[in-house]
Amino acid sequence: MVGAGLAGLTAAQELRRLGYDGALVLVGAEPFRPYRRPPLSKEYLLTADDRHLTLADGDLDDLAATWLLGHAATGLDLPGRRVLRGTLPPVDFDGLVIATGAGARNLPDGGHLPGVMTLRSLDDARMLRARLADRPRVVIAGAGFLGSEIAATLRALDLPVTLVSPDPVPLHRPLGRQVGALVADLHRAHAVDLRLHRRVTAVTGDPTVRQVHLDDGTALPADLVVVAVGARPRVEWLRGSGLRLDDGVVVDGNGLAAPGVVAAGDVARWPQPALDGELLRVEHYSNAIDQGAHAARALLGYPGRFAPVPSFWGDLYGRKLRSVGLTGIRYDTHLVASEPGGRFLAEYHRDGGVVGAVTAGFTHSLAHYRDLIAKQMAAPVPAPTPFRAS
Ligand SMILES: Cc1cc2nc3c(=O)[nH]c(=O)nc-3n(C[C@H](O)[C@H](O)[C@H](O)COP(=O)(O)OP(=O)(O)OC[C@H]3O[C@@H](n4cnc5c(N)ncnc54)[C@H](O)[C@@H]3O)c2cc1C
Repeated sequence: MVGAGLAGLTAAQELRRLGYDGALVLVGAEPFRPYRRPPLSKEYLLTADDRHLTLADGDLDDLAATWLLGHAATGLDLPGRRVLRGTLPPVDFDGLVIATGAGARNLPDGGHLPGVMTLRSLDDARMLRARLADRPRVVIAGAGFLGSEIAATLRALDLPVTLVSPDPVPLHRPLGRQVGALVADLHRAHAVDLRLHRRVTAVTGDPTVRQVHLDDGTALPADLVVVAVGARPRVEWLRGSGLRLDDGVVVDGNGLAAPGVVAAGDVARWPQPALDGELLRVEHYSNAIDQGAHAARALLGYPGRFAPVPSFWGDLYGRKLRSVGLTGIRYDTHLVASEPGGRFLAEYHRDGGVVGAVTAGFTHSLAHYRDLIAKQMAAPVPAPTPFRAS
């Protein structure tokens, strides 16, 4: 396993569950064993309580794995079946799970100034949390899931927050205009200064950040800038390996990137049957679990196309936002219910059929949509060839 995060861990657990009793090695860039990343923008940011980060999956020692943590893989020698680790000894493999996740994008101008931060890892969250005691004026660049959630958490700490996005509404791409407008109302109701249709052009200050410049000439005062403008799959170590890299590691319907090599989680891009085989990469917690387990089965030669029903949850101002299936701007949105206080239910349609749904407050309705969408996504494929342990 390269990447000791959720997808890598799930693949390791599934291999053991299916009776694989050979050597398991997890190579991880972070110095920590796997932890839950979602609380970093929610409970952990609010409380700094490490207990929120624990994966409730039993004792990791039961895996009987070797953990090589704190050093990133730097290359893949596919013909030699070796993972390279800079000057450290390489790791030989018979089967390989690529699960290196995604890394935060930064701003092109001013992104490295002290006081400008991204949030992806526990170290990032600790640094961000440490800055909050000074009660900074915060500007968040990007109003996707992460930016919106961080805004809500910082408002719960009563910090002044400005949220900047080039889009017409928050969550425009993942949830579409109508649902995004409801989220905009929620932000405004919680006194977030929302700057839509605006792009951050530069961040300035000396020695630390003082101003955020927007494309209409506005200069926003800021002591802390959180950049939440999306993530990039961590594939730099795979360049020149011969694997197909295209906004992630491209795998086939079985999850294979090459014989005996699978990829899973935020880093993997696979042909989604519900979109006629269009390649999809999903940065959601449940996908890392589903795909990690599927990748392990594919390594062992179990048949089965990867055709999960994607799902997501997030927290906004004390409400759980939950989705199933395919959602977003490329589908037709049908608002089924919308109530004062931010309770809503919306469906997403493609070619006249329902492909996804999202809700805040009508969670019980999602089971119905999950069943409906699951039926559309199931279809058999031939079994992959299992890897042979030497
Ligand atoms: C702040 C935050 C909040 C989130 N909230 C939600 C949420 O509410 N709901 C939801 O569904 N999803 C959420 N997500 C997304 C979810 O956490 C991810 O989809 C999930 O963690 C992906 O798992 P992964 O194993 O693919 O990648 P990761 O969890 O990122 O793990 C990948 C690991 O690989 C390591 N790595 C990278 N490069 C190398 C290398 N070259 N060599 C060795 N190791 C390497 C990384 O350091 C990392 O430890 C959130 C993510 C973040 C960052």
